Amino acid sequence: MYFYCEKCKKEYPISSHFYRCECGGMFRLHKEAAEPLETPITLGDFPTPLLPIEAEGKDFILKLENLLPTGSFKDRGAKTLINAIHRDGIKKIALDSAGNAGASIAAYAAAAGMECTVYVPDDASLETIAQIEGYGAKIVKVPNGRMNACTAVKANLGDAYYASHVYNPLFFEGMKAMAKEMTDQLDGHIPDYIFIPVGNGTLLIGLFLGFMELGRLPHFVAVQPSKCAPVYEAYHGLDPQPKKQTIAQALRIEEPKRLSFILSAIKASFGDVITVEDKDILSAKQRLGHRGVYVELSSAAAFAGALKYFKNGKPDNYRVILPMTGNGLKR
Ligand SMILES: [Zn+2]
Repeated sequence: MYFYCEKCKKEYPISSHFYRCECGGMFRLHKEAAEPLETPITLGDFPTPLLPIEAEGKDFILKLENLLPTGSFKDRGAKTLINAIHRDGIKKIALDSAGNAGASIAAYAAAAGMECTVYVPDDASLETIAQIEGYGAKIVKVPNGRMNACTAVKANLGDAYYASHVYNPLFFEGMKAMAKEMTDQLDGHIPDYIFIPVGNGTLLIGLFLGFMELGRLPHFVAVQPSKCAPVYEAYHGLDPQPKKQTIAQALRIEEPKRLSFILSAIKASFGDVITVEDKDILSAKQRLGHRGVYVELSSAAAFAGALKYFKNGKPDNYRVILPMTGNGLKR
């Protein structure tokens, strides 16, 4: 198992302190099909259930990732990443995150006995910061937004390994499991549509890689808040608009690092990219809450997106999955 550059194909070991190629290309993971990824470090994670719901006369299927140990889907990536680098002897890590990834990686790092520092934008939610600190990680607050947190961690790594959920392909490797899991739960059927809230595209890329291994792709519909929609603009060839604050904090990513990968995955799936308004995200969160499903706003964006996309009807036989990416207690 090793990393290679997606541009020039140069190879790097997993434990490398390079987080991208010297040529500037992003890393991908090379792994032999038969090579098992052992994961002795666990927090009691489990296959998350599917929950059918009906709304506006249409049926959807929620994938309850909000029930994972730290309350978000990112536990899947964190588990694989931490297990692999722990096996390679890494003892000290740093990363940047505005929320769920920071909590997930801090939790699994704690289980592995690693020293962990998380750079967060200084407007990150208090709940998020409290959770990351609760796992014993050190917090460094960085002013002026998420991108600055990314720049700051890279400039101050020292001897720490950059355990990034955006740069490090081991994170996507962990996300892949969700594709196989939901297909098994659907008695071997690949879903027809998956509505995916997209910020950095972690979930979309992970699911794409997972379904590629299964041999068929669902239609991926990426959902972005209209106030910050770089993937939507790029996909539809629109002029970039100024990026504003949205209530869906996890989706406030102005420049996704793997944009071209995200676009090609959506195209390959004959999917689409749509936007939703903050007020619709809020109303979708309430509707889910009033059915007993309490999720964070970015998860509600997927539901709002599905309602918008199928406004004029949805064929009954379409299996439409809405991943509930995070617990509402987070914010
Ligand atoms: Zn390269």
